[in-house]
Amino acid sequence: MKSKIDSSASCRVAVVGAGVSGLQCSRDLLSRLSSLRDETAPSLKTSFHVSLFEWGRGPGGRTARRRVKVEGEEGAVGELSFDHAAPFFQTETGTGSIRPLSMPCPSPQSIESAQPGTDEEQARQLLREWESSGWVEKWKPVELEAEWEEGGEGHGNRNVGKDLAGQQSSVSTETDYWVGVPSMNSICKGLAAEVQKAAEVEEYFGCHVLSVEGEESVQKWKVTWRERGAKEGEEKFEFFDAAVLSDKLLIQDNKYGVLPKSYEGPLSAARELKSTTVSVLLTAFPCGSLPAFGILRPRGHPVIEKVVCDTEKPHRAKKGGPVCLVVHSTEAFAKRHLEGDWFRDEETAREEMERGLREVLKKFFPPEGVVSSPVVPVERESDADPKAERGEGSSDTDGTFPLPLVSIAHMWDCAQVARPETGTTMQSSGKGYLLDSAQGNTGGTIFLGACGDFCASSSWRGEVLGAALSGRKLAAALFDRFRKAHTACLTQT
Ligand SMILES: Cc1cc2nc3c(=O)[nH]c(=O)nc-3n(C[C@H](O)[C@H](O)[C@H](O)COP(=O)(O)OP(=O)(O)OC[C@H]3O[C@@H](n4cnc5c(N)ncnc54)[C@H](O)[C@@H]3O)c2cc1C
Repeated sequence: MKSKIDSSASCRVAVVGAGVSGLQCSRDLLSRLSSLRDETAPSLKTSFHVSLFEWGRGPGGRTARRRVKVEGEEGAVGELSFDHAAPFFQTETGTGSIRPLSMPCPSPQSIESAQPGTDEEQARQLLREWESSGWVEKWKPVELEAEWEEGGEGHGNRNVGKDLAGQQSSVSTETDYWVGVPSMNSICKGLAAEVQKAAEVEEYFGCHVLSVEGEESVQKWKVTWRERGAKEGEEKFEFFDAAVLSDKLLIQDNKYGVLPKSYEGPLSAARELKSTTVSVLLTAFPCGSLPAFGILRPRGHPVIEKVVCDTEKPHRAKKGGPVCLVVHSTEAFAKRHLEGDWFRDEETAREEMERGLREVLKKFFPPEGVVSSPVVPVERESDADPKAERGEGSSDTDGTFPLPLVSIAHMWDCAQVARPETGTTMQSSGKGYLLDSAQGNTGGTIFLGACGDFCASSSWRGEVLGAALSGRKLAAALFDRFRKAHTACLTQT
């Protein structure tokens, strides 16, 4: 964490959230504002300042990865890495006609001066920047899907796949898959590194923003936060000319909300938005125990929506190492196990997902394709029963299935913005961000903005990309307002 906020800066912006949208917004704002400083008055070195607040210990948000310690057969301690939130992001084939990596990265100036185009063009531009920076690559996974039919023989009332191995099809989609390299959070790490280079930035990781309220006496936004581990009563606050909220939970009327309940400005359009709920199982099997695949989709399975093989993504450590899988549950399963923002009973949910995974793998790859392997001890992250963490003791372990090296369940109560067809996505914005402004008595203007996946155009399929685009658009809009205010101020003097 860098030192004090520069309170002499004439324009101070607080960005809450270091996910892809908050970081893209901060990065673009800093680069645009510094070009304004250079254009108009190089001496205005401290005329603006961005403070980035993030509850997590590092950047990433819902592109975070999770590292898990595992003890190998020889007793050596290894570490496995899982993309435990967004496994990838998608673009329609054709939208991502990306220039080859060998071509030079566009300079910040050319990015800033690019004429605003359609969402499609702007997204292509963003992808080009990310790809040229080496943060993302296209992934061509072996994608298998099959219908999971009801009432197969020998399985009682459970839904089972009937002769799935025969029916499964290799999917030919019109979707391009993109992944962060070497992990999904490379985009956020890369953006954070660019943000850190700026002199006019302050980062507050591990800080929970509690409230953002207009303070009439100074005509500023008062941002109050508490550091991790600090007690009640140890809150800190600072005043800002603009505040950016990059998570819809910050706007909503719940325990995470930071705006006053009485707030009725444009950001309140995001108050009623709904999210999907997903639980994920992070698991790994010994090298060579599963046939190679990228994504499995057992359509109609009651528990498993998809299985993603992280090890098959580009630039993941794989030679001779374990096969890392991230299993995404169906929404119905996650909702059945959700209580508050976590599992009602984590162990039961994890065991159900483990059983579901075994069913799915056996159907896609009948037993002869799956190699049994010895038990390998696991270094536990939690106090859970070590047998349970390895999947031992689960009722249908039949000895033909490899035992997992690790098995951890995680609940995402707000995973993705609910789809438009459910009628819960915000249609009103259209701009890709939300912006509110208030005129103070002495003529100054203060801004309150929101960006993130929940602001992205409803037709946008890739939420990671949509979130970043939203951050970029908000930065451009804020910059425009600052430039006008700045020009007016220079004209007056
Ligand atoms: C399981 C799962 C599967 C997904 N699958 C896909 C997919 O297939 N394709 C796709 O494109 N997208 C997918 N997504 C969605 C994608 O990850 C998000 O849309 C995108 O990352 C959102 O970025 P964001 O910046 O809008 O929000 P976030 O990444 O959530 O960033 C918001 C940040 O704000 C911080 N924050 C919140 N409140 C506070 C506070 N009070 N104080 C300080 N900090 C705070 C949070 O810690 C967080 O880091 C998936 C997500 C999940 C969880």
